[in-house]
Formats: sequence, structure tokens, C-alpha cells
Amino acid sequence: MSIDSLTALVRTIPDFPKPGIQFRDITTLLADGPGLAELIDQMAKVAGPLDPDLIVGVEARGFILGAALALKLGKGFVPVRKKGKLPGKTVGIDYVLEYGTDRLELHEGQVPQGARVLLVDDLIATGGTAQAAARLLREQGAQVLMALFAIDLPALGGLAALEQDGVPSRAILLFE
Ligand code: 5GP
Repeated sequence: MSIDSLTALVRTIPDFPKPGIQFRDITTLLADGPGLAELIDQMAKVAGPLDPDLIVGVEARGFILGAALALKLGKGFVPVRKKGKLPGKTVGIDYVLEYGTDRLELHEGQVPQGARVLLVDDLIATGGTAQAAARLLREQGAQVLMALFAIDLPALGGLAALEQDGVPSRAILLFE
């Protein structure tokens, strides 16, 4: 399947979650068997050669793609969740949103010191979420080999912001 056909499986929903935002909805791609397989193949081609110890996915759509990729690469999967969702003892990081702040959390000890991890999410916009997740992982002593996304919105500069933090970053699909 071509990258154009894969891109065409992503649905754009205007004015969600607020007026003026063009939401790139991947549920239409996820629901398409060949499309989902192709996306995970493409992500595996980028991530596989790095041979990460662990795949870390960010709530919530990063769980879907991250778990599929982990299975394909034969690696374990660790979730990074929003505040208060994980049942065990957590470590976390607060980060600034457009309005207010939020917090990402990880189960303590689940990413061992020195682990070589691949960070996965469905989409990178400003990069704020992935930057916070990468910082949290580094605070645990992990090495973030790469942050990998299904979709980049290059106009928002997220990949560049992550690269500036020293996190190599890639996306499979671009939406200008
Ligand atoms: P950022 O922190 O880079 O500005 O925003 C990225 C986060 O918000 C990701 O966790 C992503 O899932 C979510 N997000 C923001 N905009 C969109 C969008 O248009 N489509 C999807 N699927 N997720 C989005």
C-alpha cells in the first residue's frame, strides 16, 4: 500500500475538540486491516534496526500503535498514562498545556535504569506531550532512542522541538 493510500485512510474532522482545530482521526485507519498492517510495518521498518529494549506508548492512541509495534518487534510494552490512572506506585512529570498543566505517569521501576526505549504516539502536534514523556523516561535513567509517530503536523514544529531536546524523531505520515 502506498503512503498516499495510507494517508487517505486518516479522516479529518473539522472543529474538534474546539472550533478551528482540524482533528486527524486515525480510527478510520485502525479499522482498515491492510491499512493498520501497513502502518505497523512502516513503523517497524524505522524502529526495528534500533533494537529497542522496550516500547513505551503514550495514552491513549499510543497504546494501540505501541502495543502492535511491540508485538511485531517481540518487545515488551510500557504505558505512560495521564494522572491517577495507574494502580501501582508511579513516577511522573508535570507539563504545560495551552491552558493549564497536566501530568504524565509511569509505573515506578517499569523502565529500568539504562533501558533503550522507543517512544510511540499516534500524532505529534506541538511536541509538548512527547517532550514531557521523553523527559520522564530520561529521569528514570532510560535512553530514548527515538520518538516515533504515525502522523506529524510539521507546521506545529513538534519533531524539531523533540530533536532540540536530543530525541531523534520520525513520523510515517505528514499532514501540512
Ligand atoms: P502535542 O502535545 O504534540 O501538541 O499533541 C499531541 C498529543 O495530542 C498526542 O497525544 C495526540 O494523540 C493528541 N492530538 C493532538 N491533536 C491531534 C489530532 O489532530 N489527532 C489525533 N489523533 N491526536 C491528536
